[in-house]
Order: sequence, then C-alpha cells, then structure tokens
Amino acid sequence: MSRGVVTSVDGCNEISPILSVREFFDKCRLSLNREALDCQPPDEEISFESLAAALGVQEETVRQLSDICHEDKLVCPARPEYLEDFDVVNDGIPEGVDLMSLREVKRLQEKKKPVKSRAKNEKEINHMPSEELQKMFGTQVQKFEPIEKPEVVLTITVYQANNMRVHREYLFLSSQPLYALRDCVVCDSDNIVSTDHSENPWDTDAQIRNKDVCKSAFLFIENIFYIDKRDPTARDYSRVIMDWASRRSLKTPNVGNMTSRLMEGVTFRDINIRLGFPYLYCHQGSCEHLVIFKDIRLLHCSDPQNRLLYPCMTFRTREYKTRCMICRIYLARWITVNDELAMQDPSFFCKKCFDALHYTEDGQKVCKFEAYPIMNPEKNQEN
Ligand SMILES: [Zn+2]
Ligand SMILES: [Zn+2]
Repeated sequence: MSRGVVTSVDGCNEISPILSVREFFDKCRLSLNREALDCQPPDEEISFESLAAALGVQEETVRQLSDICHEDKLVCPARPEYLEDFDVVNDGIPEGVDLMSLREVKRLQEKKKPVKSRAKNEKEINHMPSEELQKMFGTQVQKFEPIEKPEVVLTITVYQANNMRVHREYLFLSSQPLYALRDCVVCDSDNIVSTDHSENPWDTDAQIRNKDVCKSAFLFIENIFYIDKRDPTARDYSRVIMDWASRRSLKTPNVGNMTSRLMEGVTFRDINIRLGFPYLYCHQGSCEHLVIFKDIRLLHCSDPQNRLLYPCMTFRTREYKTRCMICRIYLARWITVNDELAMQDPSFFCKKCFDALHYTEDGQKVCKFEAYPIMNPEKNQEN
C-alpha cells in the first residue's frame, strides 16, 4: 500500500482513513508511467552495480549476498539429485540416503491408504502448491480472458460465521461486481437441508438446501446496505434494520445514517472503504460474517493475468470435518435428532452406519428419528 495515499488513523495504525477505490485507481493512473500501469516486468535484470548503489554497500557485498541467498543453497546436501524421480512410498528409501523427512513421509503415507500417484508423493516432499494455488497459476482454467490495464487489486478477508476466525482470503479486481464477493462466501448455513429426510433418505432430488430457498443477503459497507436482489424471491433485510435505526437515532444520533443500494450494477470501484475496518456480510436471516479489505494495490505482473481466475483464493483455513460417531472412520453424511438409537442429540453418521442402524433390509425405519443430510460440497465428501 502506498504510504502517500493511505495513512494511519491517530491512535490506531491498523485502520486506514476512508478512501474511494475509484480515486485510488485514478491516482495510480495519473502518477505512474505506462510500463508500471501495464504491469510489464522490467526489461533488464538489475545489475549488481545498481543494486549496490541503491543499498549503499560495496558491489562485492551484493555478490556475496547473491551467492549466499541463491536457491541452490536451499537443497539439503544429503539429498541426491536422482531423488526427484524416486517413488519413496512404493519403492522405499534408496540405499545410502539418510533423511528424517523421507522416513517421516513414508511413515505417514503408510498409515494412510497407499498412494500410487508420484505427483502426490512429490507434493508431500517438495511442498508443491495447493489446489487453490494451482488454480491461481492457471492449470485448471482452460480459457483466457485478458485484464484491461491498469487495474487495481483488492485483498479481502472473509471470516467464519459468527466468530472471529479467518475463513478465506481472496484477490478481487476493482472492476468486478460486488456480488462476486457475496458469491464466493462458503458457509455451512447455506448447505443445510432443513426438512426431515428420514422417510426418504435415498431421494437426493428432494434434498433442497437453504441456499436454494433463501437467496437473500446483504453487504454492509460504510453505512450502505448493498442488497442482493438478483433473485426476485430475495428479501431486502435492510429495511427492518433501517427502520429500527431511525427510531433509535433519537436516542443515539450516531445510529441512523444508513442507506441502501442494489448490489447489482455496483463494482468495487464504485465503493468507499477503510482498510482494516470490519464490514458485514449477512445471509440466511442472521448468519453474519466479518469482511475486511486488507489491501489495495495496482495489478502486478506476478499476479494472475487471466481475468477468469478472479476472485483468486490465496488463503483457506483448514476445514473442520465431523466423523461418524459409530465407526469413527468415515466422515459424517447424516445428522439425526430425537433419535431413539443414538447416545447423543444430535448424532452424526456416515452413510453406511446410518443405513445399517436405522433401516431394515427393505428400507423401513426401525425407530423414531429425524434425519438431515450434510450437503457441504467441499467438506465431508470422503465417503
Ligand atoms: Zn454464513
Ligand atoms: Zn460410520
């Protein structure tokens, strides 16, 4: 973040003053040269001589630093070159190689189910990029759509529902619509199936999730409610809050200066933000997530240049996965309540244990219970 554009607020160096994304974009456009705006990498490599002059040290010192920090120095001397092509899990550790890291990888892999793919091994050994980062590098997106330069990139952190833990972090282009942020929030409350399916657990077509029924949501940024009304059945949650606020404003003057706009047609470039300030995303009536704009900067040549890769996830927290309460092996696919056969309420079951415990061979219920499928597409899909 350029210091000239955003400075810290007195007494708090984590929240910036309010800034217009469009103003930031215009300032960058007017103050930078064409090469920087087109985010071209520099034509020539920086010479040792110019680097020494910039750092205020001898050229010899820069050469020494370059030698010490060279990527070749990251290779462990005990690791032979041919190890790149070696399948440690299936072929064992080669003779004469004594690396604790390989022994540990082998031990962990043997504990899990056997891994045949060599690529999977290398991921463990060489810390290859995660799925998301591969996506970032464009290996999973076949089409290419160029980004019109100059472009401003916003780093946005989305928190978990109703708590202060970071869930995911994304890069957004300032020309993207605001609903791109709403669309990339993944939340369990969207994926809950709220009707009892104990009578028809095999009918997957009848399993309608909350997000299929309730499409209402808003973002609250700088006293403006951005309402998602793309679906005609979506409700405007802001009206009831603004009515409450206007009544309250007689007693508390700071509450009440709120307005609302449709999210549709608004891009990030059209909004005002404070970096580091917690804003609100609300959906499913009362499921609330903090949203923080962490950074704003010009698109760089090292950023993905394919428009289709944005919003680009750069961080994702480890998802908590619930295991079956009977076998403790498979992930839970069903939640039961008021279950005569369960020790706890609610109880969690994998598909196999759920069927075996609750139904006869011809599919009849053996006791009273209510059952709700777990439908998160990214979690609990192992079995
Ligand atoms: Zn939520
Ligand atoms: Zn089970």
